[in-house]
Amino acid sequence: MKRERLTIEQLLGVDKFVVDDQEAHIRLNKEHCESCETKPCTFACPAGLFAVKDGAISFDHAGCLECGTCRAVCPKAGTALIWCYPRGGFGIHYRYG
Ligand code: SF4
Ligand code: SF4
Repeated sequence: MKRERLTIEQLLGVDKFVVDDQEAHIRLNKEHCESCETKPCTFACPAGLFAVKDGAISFDHAGCLECGTCRAVCPKAGTALIWCYPRGGFGIHYRYG
């Protein structure tokens, strides 16, 4: 039986996100982001969760795929960007691997 290949949007559409409103698993210290010239997180995050608005970085952890790309590309990871996995029971629940 031939299986239909799903698009990225279709694959993400079947995943379930349990957002932790009490404790964000990724936090930004935005004062450190001000001197970040290229802001690679804004174009590297596959979920598009980083943006520059009115000259300042904005971020929302809801919808995070937990891929770690932002931590890998951030030149100030550990100071500007604090990254960890969500608490148990929270975060993305992948349905198609
Ligand atoms: S999170 Fe990292 S990559 Fe993104 S703007 Fe801040 S310092 Fe730059
Ligand atoms: S872990 Fe991945 S999906 Fe989540 S904010 Fe970072 S780059 Fe975006």
